[in-house]
Formats: sequence, C-alpha cells, structure tokens
Amino acid sequence: MASQKNESIKTVGHNKFGFDSTVDVETLRSLYLTPVFVKDGSKVENVTGAPAKEYGSESTYDKATNAIQYTTIAKFPPVKLLPNSERKRILVTGGAGFVGSHLVDRLMLLGHEVTVLDNFFTGSRTTVSHWVGHPNFEMVRHDVVEPFLIEVDQIYHLACPASPPHYQYNAVKTIKTSFMGTLNMLGLAKRTKARFLITSTSEVYGDPEEHPQREDYWGHVNCIGIRACYDEGKRVAETLTYGYQRQDGVDVRVARIFNTFGPRMNPYDGRVVSNFIIQALKGEDMTVYGDGSQTRSFQYVHDLVDGLILLMNGDETRPVNVGNGDEFTILEFAEAVRDIVEKVQKDQGNPLAKRVNIIHKDLPSDDPQRRRPDTTRAKESLGWQPQWSVKQGIEEMVLYYASKLAKGEI
Ligand code: NAD
Ligand code: UDP
Ligand code: UDP
Repeated sequence: MASQKNESIKTVGHNKFGFDSTVDVETLRSLYLTPVFVKDGSKVENVTGAPAKEYGSESTYDKATNAIQYTTIAKFPPVKLLPNSERKRILVTGGAGFVGSHLVDRLMLLGHEVTVLDNFFTGSRTTVSHWVGHPNFEMVRHDVVEPFLIEVDQIYHLACPASPPHYQYNAVKTIKTSFMGTLNMLGLAKRTKARFLITSTSEVYGDPEEHPQREDYWGHVNCIGIRACYDEGKRVAETLTYGYQRQDGVDVRVARIFNTFGPRMNPYDGRVVSNFIIQALKGEDMTVYGDGSQTRSFQYVHDLVDGLILLMNGDETRPVNVGNGDEFTILEFAEAVRDIVEKVQKDQGNPLAKRVNIIHKDLPSDDPQRRRPDTTRAKESLGWQPQWSVKQGIEEMVLYYASKLAKGEI
C-alpha cells in the first residue's frame, strides 16, 4: 500500500502547479514538539528529550508550586523570500485549529502572508503563537458568522468545529457557522476575486451504502439526527459554494476530508485517535464504542495539508476526497494504538506496569458503520497520495501528547 512505503520521511509537500510546497519535516516538528523542563527541587530536567528549542516558546514546570513559566524566544524559523509576484495574501479561517495550524506553518515557511481568522471555540492561540510578531503573520479573533473585510488572493475556509462532541455542543451554532460563515467567506471571495477552498468532509456521505466512497456518491444522511448539524451543514456549504461558482463565477475548490489525526489535535475533543492515545498513555481503560466492528481510515495531517495545497493551486474544481485508504475496525485500531504507545513508553524507559484494558461503551446514534475514501480523483487530478503510514503518524502523536502530559497540560 502506498502509505506503507516510507520508513523515514524527510520532506513533505510537492512542487506542482507553479506552487512549491516542499518543506523539511524536522522544521515542522520543531514547531510542535517542544522540550518540557520540569523543576523538581533544585533539579531541572528536560523530560521529553526533544532538542533545545530555537523558535517559539519554551516552558518550565515547577512541581513544588504547580506553576508553569513560559519563555518566548523572539526568533522565527527562516521563511522563503518570495518575489512580490509570487507572494500571496492568504486567509485561513479556523487557522488556530488542528488542521489549520499545520496549514499555517506550511504557508508561512513558504513565504506567504498569512492571516488567521478564528473565534477560538475549539482552536487555541497556542497552536500558532510561534508566528505572532512575524511580519508576514496576522491573527484576528473573529466569528465567521459575521461579515469580514480583508483584501486577499486565496481563502482556505476551515472554520467549523469538527469533532462530534464539539459540533453537537451547540448544534444551532454549528449550522450557523456552516451556512452563514461559508456565505460570508464566499461573499468575500466574490468581492476580492480570491480563490476559495472549503474543507468539507466525508460526513457528507453519512452512513454510506456504497463502499469505498467516491465523489459522485450522493450520500445517506439522517437530516434530523444528532450528527445532522454538521453533515447537513457541510452539505449546504458545498451547495452554496457551487451556487457562487455558477452564479457569480467564484473560483472554488472543495476538499472532502476523511478522518485525520496528528499533533495539536485538541486532547479533549473526544475523537477516537486522541481518546485512545491519551487513555493508553495514562494507563486508563481504552473505550471502544459498540462492538468496535465499525471501520474508519486515518490519514496523517501532513498528507492532508499536501492535498489541500495541491487542490488550491491545481485546476480541479469538482469535490475531491482527501484521505488514507488503510481501513481498520475500531477494535483493531485500539489494539494497534496500544501496541505503539507501549513501544514508545519502552523506548523512553518508562513502561507501564500492566497492559491497559480495552472496554466497550454504548455506540452513539447514527455512527457510520463503514468509511473509506476512494482517492482515484486526487491521484489522477492532483497527483496526490498519502505518504505516511498510520503507525508513523501515531508514533509522532504519542511523542507530542507525552510532552503535554509531562507539562501537566493533560
Ligand atoms: P478544529 O476544531 O481543531 O478546528 C476548527 C477551527 O475553527 C478552530 O480553531 C475553531 O476555533 C474555529 N472555529 C469554529 N467555529 C468558528 C467560527 N464560527 N468562527 C471562527 N472560527 C471558528 O477542527 P479541525 O480538525 O482542524 O478541522 C478543520 C476543518 O476540517 C473543519 O472545517 C472540519 O470540518 C474539516 N474536517 C476535519 C476532519 C478531521 O478529521 N480533522 C475531517 C473532515 C473535515
Ligand atoms: N461579505 C463579507 N465580506 C466581503 C464581502 C461580503 O463578509 O468582503 C458578506 C456579506 O456581508 C454578505 C455575504 O458575504 O452577508 C454574501 O455576500 P454577497 O455579496 O454575495 O451577497 P449580498 O451582500 O449581496 O447579500
Ligand atoms: N470511538 C470509539 N471510542 C472513542 C471515540 C470514538 O470507539 O473513545 C468510535 C466512534 O464511535 C466512531 C469512530 O470511533 O465509530 C470514530 O469516531 P470519531 O469521533 O473520531 O470520528 P467520526 O468518524 O465518527 O466523525
């Protein structure tokens, strides 16, 4: 399988469609894997083993006072110096979220001017704080349901909560964000003639009756169920997007993203990857909902960002699935995560005394039974396919959460 191919990936990105998005993995890693110093009495120890930090903030956790001290290092990673004709003004809505922050890192390193618009509902300023103060970077606290004026060349419209507990927390707000937020950003794209990309979702296929899911499948969605605020929200957002394309000639791109994971995923967002890793790291029972026979496929966030940048800069205007085709049952996935966490703990010299248990809880309603992308279109029209295996990605994420645990943040 394509995603199994590489043991050590040194760079991500592509140089295609006149847009070079390649960057070193090590540079990206230095932006999210921060060393954590713990002060125990007079001893200060780097508990993560992550290399000393060159950029962004560093923190020292004092056990005696249960306090954390941040030091901001006023030095930014080098960004490309682009000629004015190539440098784009790019708006990323939801840029302080999990996916958005990785996209922002990439666009910044490539030398573009990036504005993040976010209301910090599920995102956090800390995900992009390492760019605050950079001359090419701007962060705006704003809710997309309100109109917004700015002059830009490209809009990546991500703003929308993505995890089921978060989008169900205030279902009406989720619908407003999907509809009014997308309307405003399309109005902005129309006025500025910016190219507009929306991050839609595999949820537009609902609980699918076709497997794997191709872009021309219309879906099987319960319009009044607990997931409807998100599923139907994204469906109408796609409808609006193509409405603006047909009526007003707006230049649009639609990515249908399948389950994605990676560092900076909110540890408490309730999605399966974060839940399982944190439970296993803490030695708690891992919670499989239902009998665990439902399937998902999981893509690593760097692959997704590659796909989004290719889509934005290529010519494909139809919806494009972006996901990894390696399908697991949720029970198999729990076992795989447990094995990887055990390996990392052993490598770090702190194995748990006993294996964690996998327990079962009730299956939430409308939980899709099977989900796997057909990514033929992405391969043919963008030349994109995933590079990262699930194992490689999970190991990276375990290191990230282990450092958060050491900091006392989880
Ligand atoms: P996330 O919750 O980490 O990020 C969403 C961001 O949008 C957050 O920073 C949040 O504060 C912001 N936001 C929410 N409502 C807003 C509003 N009204 N105004 C301004 N900002 C607002 O989620 P994510 O996983 O990074 O998802 C990003 C996008 O990708 C979403 O559009 C989501 O639907 C889509 N997507 C993600 C996945 C996945 O597996 N991660 C799968 C399919 C689709
Ligand atoms: N809009 C915005 N920023 C802009 C242009 C438009 O937020 O730069 C909003 C605008 O307030 C409106 C929506 O986008 O609510 C749709 O705009 P459009 O021009 O398509 O519609 P109209 O204003 O004619 O209803
Ligand atoms: N799930 C689970 N245990 C958890 C969280 C989720 O078994 O602690 C299951 C959930 O029921 C679903 C799958 O894992 O079948 C993926 O859930 P997630 O919320 O990550 O995303 P979804 O694909 O359902 O939007």
